[in-house]
Order: sequence, then structure tokens, then C-alpha cells
Amino acid sequence: MSSSKTLLVLENFIAGKFVPCSSYIDSYNPSTGDVYCRVPDSGKEEVEAAVRAAKDAFPIWSSKSPLERSQILNKLADLIEHDLEVFAQAESKDQGKTITFARTVDIPRAVYNFRFFASSILHHTTECTEMAAMGYLHYTSRTPVGIAGLISPWNLPLYLLTWKIAPAIACGNTVVAKPSEMTSVTAWMLCKLFEKAGISHGVVNMVFGTGSKAGEAIVCHPDVPLISFTGSTLTAQRITEKSAPHCKKLSLELGGKNPALVFDDADLNQCIPATVRSSFANQGEICLCTSRIFVQKGIYNEFLKRFVEETKKWKVGSPSDPTVDMGALISKEHLEKVRNYVKKAQAEGARILCGEGVDSLALSAGNQKGYFMLPTVITEIKDESCCMQEEIFGPVTCVVAFDTEEEAIERANGVKYGLAATVWSSNVSRVHRVAQRLQSGLVWTNCWLVRDLNLPFGGMKASGVGREGAKDSYEFFTEIKTITIKH
Ligand code: NAD
Repeated sequence: MSSSKTLLVLENFIAGKFVPCSSYIDSYNPSTGDVYCRVPDSGKEEVEAAVRAAKDAFPIWSSKSPLERSQILNKLADLIEHDLEVFAQAESKDQGKTITFARTVDIPRAVYNFRFFASSILHHTTECTEMAAMGYLHYTSRTPVGIAGLISPWNLPLYLLTWKIAPAIACGNTVVAKPSEMTSVTAWMLCKLFEKAGISHGVVNMVFGTGSKAGEAIVCHPDVPLISFTGSTLTAQRITEKSAPHCKKLSLELGGKNPALVFDDADLNQCIPATVRSSFANQGEICLCTSRIFVQKGIYNEFLKRFVEETKKWKVGSPSDPTVDMGALISKEHLEKVRNYVKKAQAEGARILCGEGVDSLALSAGNQKGYFMLPTVITEIKDESCCMQEEIFGPVTCVVAFDTEEEAIERANGVKYGLAATVWSSNVSRVHRVAQRLQSGLVWTNCWLVRDLNLPFGGMKASGVGREGAKDSYEFFTEIKTITIKH
């Protein structure tokens, strides 16, 4: 453990000021296993102060014009972009992700989230209908909901938090946000930029701490009418229960068990590297990562051979090394959980083709206690196996064969989740047909992780409730009213 003198100590950000907390939680550097940061262990008291600040700030912030808010969001985007490298270094250290991923995905996307909602807030219209013969005119009006409770996970810390903060404040709400207790640093850094961007005190309040204390205090607070949550399905069930007595508006972005369907006529030169990436990017810790690959029998052997060869090329090591493809997993407990899935599959008779338990991992001296594992490919596994049914959220993917299109769709749909799917085929009719029938909020064909933020994002079944995106976020973060005028 590092000496307490060198620890980074975070503070809550309430009413425009950093405020210390009476107790703290240790936060680990996943690539070394050292405690390097202390995060406030906030509870009801801190959340109460944050809600009060958000309440005080609401009348002024909500009465600003969309254009004024848009200018402030753009300024904030510029400020993050100016510090992109510092944010990327911090995100990589805090989460274990590679510096390359933080530099090219996480932080640029956080910047873009603010730019995108700064622009999209200027383009919404409301509806109007006439009952001319009877002398009535109806129109709709949208107003901010109030105080938004925003709760985000550890895998894409700043990226996912800003995906909530940006639309919430663009729509005129004020915010009480809580990032994951395991990855709070970049959210704390973001708070340092608010004043310079022109975000007045109390508009965004950041309360750090655990889900069971700080998170539940937000969810249960009667003055927070709306919760936008990204995280696991299990936590979402608890949030739903806890918020039910208050009839809160909920947006829930949850886990996945995402299939890739690879047909005989797929272009394997494109499909294989893309599917390796979709399985292992960010250590497999993306809700959209592929974890079940269904390959048509005619190309199964060739696919498997080439897929394993490509996976073995992935370099695992220090996240700060720009040549590394995969960094460390988030925590010791998570690493153990992911490893146990591989062990269970092995015990059930599945074959591990590469990675965990099969190949050895060479780590530099400073990373020996880090939470690393190799990208792992499993085959000869049954659809009922927990590795094929449960979200592992790590660098483990299963490859199995199928015969017919009908069979592939049925098996792909045979899990409780429905977040993202990929279809690989050069037959356009098939691509449309299969995409229509997959129970999945997102279907990528012959590509992966291509997002237009204008369009809805979210999952079906246990993968979520509601959608977020330009129009969807606008609808979620505002209340609609229908007004009728008799003339
Ligand atoms: P988690 O559910 O454990 O935690 C998410 C957040 O909720 C954290 O901030 C946590 O402190 C908080 N929390 C925990 N218990 C709470 C409670 N009782 N009340 C209020 N807040 C509580 O999830 P995680 O382990 O941080 O993240 C991984 C999960 O997130 C995976 O299931 C992944 O698929 C999912 N995820 C989904 C998306 C998506 O957009 N669909 C994106 C990223 C991650």
C-alpha cells in the first residue's frame, strides 16, 4: 500500500465548492494493485446537501434559454478537450484501461457528449393540432423535470457520466451525480472545470461513494424525481424497488450477453479482427462487447482457427504502454469472478482454446500485483452453460457452430438480455431479415460500435428500460404538457 502522504484525496462537489467528507473509501490502481486514491464515502447527509444545492440552482438554470445553456456546454467541451491528455492519463490509471483507449475513445467521447447535446438542444420542436371547427387549438410544451439523479458505472467512467450530465443540464435540469466508487477521479477533475465554463453553483453536484449508501440516498430522496442509471441489471432491480414509492421517472441502461452471428457468406477478413475487438476491447468491460459468437458450420473451422490466431496477437500489459491492446480488469474481485467463469466452463467439459489457464502471461515487475488476464476463447460449450447465459463483463468469449438461420436467431435470442447484436453476412436480404428478428436494442451488421448519437440507445428485456439519444434523452429529461386554448 502507498503511503498516505502520496494518496490522491477526492472531495465532494456541492454548491460549486469542494467539500471534505467525514469518511473515505480506498480506491485501487488496477494495474499495480496499490491503493492510490481516497474517495468520499458519502451518505444521506452529503446527498441532502447536494439536493438542496441543486434545488436552489434550479430556478435560474431552468430559466436560461437553450442557446445560453448550449454555449456553456460547448465551453465545457472545449475545456475538457484542452486537458484531454491529462484526463486520458487519469482515466487509464483509475480504471485499468489502456491509455490508447482512453485517448481515442473515453475522453474524446466525453467532449463530444457535451458538444452533441449543446447542438441538439437547439433543434427540438413541439407539436400543435387544431380542432378548427370547434374553435380549439392544442399544443405541447416541454419543461425540465427538476433535479436529476445520475448514477454511472466503472467501465467507461467519464464517457458514461457525461452521456447523462450533458442532456440533463442541456434540458435545464440541475443534477446530483454519483460515479462509481471505483472510478471517481475524472468526475472529480470535471468539477474543476464547471465554474470556468459558466455553470453556476449548484447546477451539477457530484457526490462520491458507494451504491448502497450514496446511490440509495439519491434514489430514495423525495426531491429527486428522475433517475438515469447505467449499471448492472441486479442494481437496476433494487433501484426500481426503492424508487417505486415515489413513482420516479427511470431510465435504466443495463447489462448484455451480446451475440455475433457469422454466416457462411461473411467477409472473414473484416469480421475476424472486428469480432476480436468486439470481444476484448476495454478488457471486455463494455456492455456492448460480444460474448457469444455463433458461426455457420461451413466456415466454422476456418473462423475458429483464424479467430484464435488473431486473439493471441493481442498484447496484455501496462495500460500506460501505447502498444498494449488490453490493460487490467477493474478489481481483484472482478478478476476472480471472470476467472471463475472460465473454470466453470472447463469443469462442464468446454475447451479453452487460448488465454486463461492455457497460455502464460508475462507482466513487468511493476504490474505483478495488477488485475490482468489474457483474452480467452471458449468452445464446445452448451447454450445453457452460465458462460453462455450470464454477463461475464471480462475478456472471455464463446464460439459455437450453427446450421440454419432460424436456429442462429433462436439461440441468439435465448438469453434474458437484449442489448446489442452483430450480424456478419454479405446477403443484404438476410441482414435485414435477421436484424428484424433479433431481440436486441442495437443491431450492427458487418461492423461494431458505430454510434450516431441522434438515434436511440438502450436495451430490451433485462438490458434496460427506456432509451437515451438526442430525442429520447430530450423526452426523458423534460416533462411534456398538453395545453388547449379555446378561441
Ligand atoms: P453496478 O450496478 O454495480 O453499479 C453501477 C452504479 O450504481 C455505481 O455507481 C454503483 O455505486 C451504483 N449502485 C450500486 N448499488 C446501488 C444501489 N443500491 N442504489 C443506487 N446506486 C447503486 O454496475 P457496475 O459493476 O459499476 O457496472 C457494470 C455493469 O454496468 C454491467 O452489467 C454492464 O453491462 C453495465 N453497463 C451497461 C451499459 C449500458 O449502457 N447498457 C453501459 C455500461 C455498463
